[in-house]
Amino acid sequence: MLTKTHNSKELMQLEDRYGAHNYHPLPVVLSRGEGVYVWDAEGKRYYDFLSAYSAVNQGHCHPRIIAALQEQAGRLTLTSRAFYSDQLGVYEKYMSEYFGFDKILPMNTGAEAVETALKICRKWSYDVKGIPENQGHIIVCGQNFHGRTTTIISFSSDQNAKGNFGPYTPGFISIEYNDLDALENLLEEKGEEIAGFLVEPIQGEAGVNVPADDYLAKAAALCKKHNVLFLADEIQTGVARTGSLLRVCGDCSCAGHCEKQETYVRPDILILGKALSGGVYPVSAVLADDHIMNVIKPGQHGSTFGGNPLACHVAMTALEVIRDEKLAQNARALGKRFRARMEELANKSDLVTLVRGKGLLNAIVINDSPDSSTAWDICVGLRDNGLLAKPTHGNIIRFAPPLVMSETQLEECCDIIEKTILEFKK
Ligand SMILES: *Cc1c(COP(=O)(O)O)cnc(C)c1O
Repeated sequence: MLTKTHNSKELMQLEDRYGAHNYHPLPVVLSRGEGVYVWDAEGKRYYDFLSAYSAVNQGHCHPRIIAALQEQAGRLTLTSRAFYSDQLGVYEKYMSEYFGFDKILPMNTGAEAVETALKICRKWSYDVKGIPENQGHIIVCGQNFHGRTTTIISFSSDQNAKGNFGPYTPGFISIEYNDLDALENLLEEKGEEIAGFLVEPIQGEAGVNVPADDYLAKAAALCKKHNVLFLADEIQTGVARTGSLLRVCGDCSCAGHCEKQETYVRPDILILGKALSGGVYPVSAVLADDHIMNVIKPGQHGSTFGGNPLACHVAMTALEVIRDEKLAQNARALGKRFRARMEELANKSDLVTLVRGKGLLNAIVINDSPDSSTAWDICVGLRDNGLLAKPTHGNIIRFAPPLVMSETQLEECCDIIEKTILEFKK
């Protein structure tokens, strides 16, 4: 019970004392958010440059999304899938049209959606492709991040995420990310027992690794040639973050679903989460066409909360906001400006070696070993100057603000980053 007002220090102590230590947060305690800003328990304002790992693309507490949440919360929140609801079918049609797939399977968290996609892929490989039972393998990439379940960490290359959690789920083969030869060789050699290829269109957690421009299209073509499903995990890259509706849209300027676009690489299975709800509620989804999705029959997969009326109502509104406020276009324009500013900074400072990203999913690489505390210390400095970001993989800082940012705000943020780095002393 909150019997008195705690200050930030006390609140951090509470988490440390009573919460499992499965995270190592930056020392700042947030108590309010609005648009691109968050405020700490003492009322200090910050720019949010993490956006809850790209879940809050629409900005904190977006009034339309919050209104949708409140409206639906007063009417009906959960029925389970034992019954129909007046929201689910409407939502499923909306999603199908918005992203251009026959069907959706609704879940709650990203990891659940990845698990769902893996199950669908395996089942398809036996029921449709005709791989002998238990022989269907799924190809994954080194440095991947797809979530935290036992199966998903089984094919992680991060020893910290994986160590001492075995025995691991078999059936996964890892190849280098952005290596088409490795994919081609593996498919030539074993294509008949490969069910799918699971890939992040940009590896977010690994430090915003952007593959070659033709990587996704060529990988998808190789999969097609070998009758292997192409699974795109767009949980972090999707929903306008990288300057188009999905990263598989490439640098398409329509910022909506359009298969006419030359750059569009159509996945067989699309996995979404995070910003699908604008960070307001856990909502994830797997999308695929009938010939794939129909392998799942009643009783073979599900979730008590998956597709609940509250989630459906919130997600539809969150996607309307993406479209109405042209957030993909904004992410694209601001992203270009952001990288240009960071490149100027890299020329001025020995601390920044590299800038990379698409749209408003960007990272800078700090000129120090991944074991050093430099990137962390810079993030503490950024915090002191009113901007919140977090290192990933030691010496990389990811910058992913809400997409509702204005140009003026972006320039101010670049000023903060520049000042912090130029004044930084080890
Ligand atoms: C965040 C993330 C996940 C896992 O989502 P959770 O909601 O944390 O389970 C999976 N894949 C990618 C690419 C992600 O960024």
